[in-house]
Amino acid sequence: MKKDTFYVTTPIYYVNSKPHLGTVYSTVAADIIARFKRMQGKDVFFLTGSDEHGEKVALTAKKHNKEPKEWVDEIVATYKLLWDRLNISYNKFIRTTDKEHEKTVAKILEILKEKNLIYEGSYTGLYCLECERFYTKKELVDNKCPFHQKDLVNLKEKCYFLKLSAFQKPLIKLIEEGEFRIEPEKRKNEILGFLTTERLEDVAISREKVKWGVQIPWDREQTVYVWVDALINYLSGLGWKGDPKKTSKYWPPDCQIIGKDILRFHTLLWGAIILSLEIPLPKLIFVHGFLTLEGQKMSKSLGNVIEPDKLIDIFGSDATRYLLFSFFSFGEDCDISLSKFYDEYNAKLANGYGNLISRTLTLALGKGEIKLKKVDKKFEKKVSACWRDYDASMEGLKFNQALEVFQALIAFCNEYIDKKKPWELLKKDKEGFEEVIYNLTEAIRHLNWMILPFMPEKANQIFELLGLGKTEYEKSQELAKEWAEVKVYKISEKIERIFPRL
Ligand SMILES: [Zn+2]
Repeated sequence: MKKDTFYVTTPIYYVNSKPHLGTVYSTVAADIIARFKRMQGKDVFFLTGSDEHGEKVALTAKKHNKEPKEWVDEIVATYKLLWDRLNISYNKFIRTTDKEHEKTVAKILEILKEKNLIYEGSYTGLYCLECERFYTKKELVDNKCPFHQKDLVNLKEKCYFLKLSAFQKPLIKLIEEGEFRIEPEKRKNEILGFLTTERLEDVAISREKVKWGVQIPWDREQTVYVWVDALINYLSGLGWKGDPKKTSKYWPPDCQIIGKDILRFHTLLWGAIILSLEIPLPKLIFVHGFLTLEGQKMSKSLGNVIEPDKLIDIFGSDATRYLLFSFFSFGEDCDISLSKFYDEYNAKLANGYGNLISRTLTLALGKGEIKLKKVDKKFEKKVSACWRDYDASMEGLKFNQALEVFQALIAFCNEYIDKKKPWELLKKDKEGFEEVIYNLTEAIRHLNWMILPFMPEKANQIFELLGLGKTEYEKSQELAKEWAEVKVYKISEKIERIFPRL
């Protein structure tokens, strides 16, 4: 049977410096979604990558006495190492310097030109070198770039324009009617607010002075504006060659994760490119907030940056993934701190899940096989209710709610142990004892499935402790959700501390 496909993307990251926690946040989120969808048995394509062209990269490379390609190769390597460390299960890492990508960009520009959506002009404006974009006076804060607090330069040059203005009405209609879905609701309202009150201007899509970029196919003096180049990755990453009649089986994206700072690019410019190509729009653009550290924006100049590697050194890769999503609703800004992370780790993972596992395994130790005797209806009902809530939360990308369901089931198991007192049963009621251990082990198997998208390595380790390992992984979640689906457990005799206290 042909599997349903699911296409999820992160933004491609601008590789002018090493990855920071914000890029980790987007990427882990997309990975959680990809793993959850694979659990459902879907044929998932998960795309991430690097945005490598533009003036800023060329300047930084020069500062380091390197060729641009040499420089981006180095930075891309740091991204790939970090994604390996975090078990990011991407299907493809696209680079905008890939020849195939460059060809697709050129092809798409030719299509747009044939459709008379591109014209020659000249642009004068205020340009932020850091953002690689022009700003209107209105957008500035104290006459400086609102994101970089730096002075802008005045640029005038020949360039090509995309008739973005032609897409104002169609975009308003598509977004309002939900055909171009943007979530959370407040982000949809934000972009509609902009579209309904301001005139959408045509946008310069080439640069004359920037040499480090994709050449405009009909004018070798010009290179493609980095944002147009970058957005096309979502098409070229699927191996798409530019024929609107032959898109990939994964098209359109089911879910595109972006940060709130790039909302306009991913609705207006991206929307316009797709509409021009006359191919289906993404099913969902999901916009997340920023991470702040103890109430402040993390920035190198403030010296309050948490390096991703540092978090992983302290908590491990899986717990880092968990902690980034357990506090806040995905979509809102979240204010993190190391002390919050320590508290949450100890409360929810060391004392919570970790403790439940070690209590259960200690009781089971040396007792041989753990077999199903009779199905416990109360447990069955509880677990199926948890699965319903969990799935609904995950489908809505409400990761913190899904983790609350996971924690609620742990609490249920702990109460069950306290009530049943298996250590007493062991002395007087062997059958009763075995039933309790079976129920707990089976509950841990379910918990482990719920946590798998967040903590793939730990989940694997725990499945092995339960004597399941690979066979469990090969199942889809639908089968795994059945209570008493595994009838006999051969629990490992080797007890490991899965989440040591920190
Ligand atoms: Zn800027």
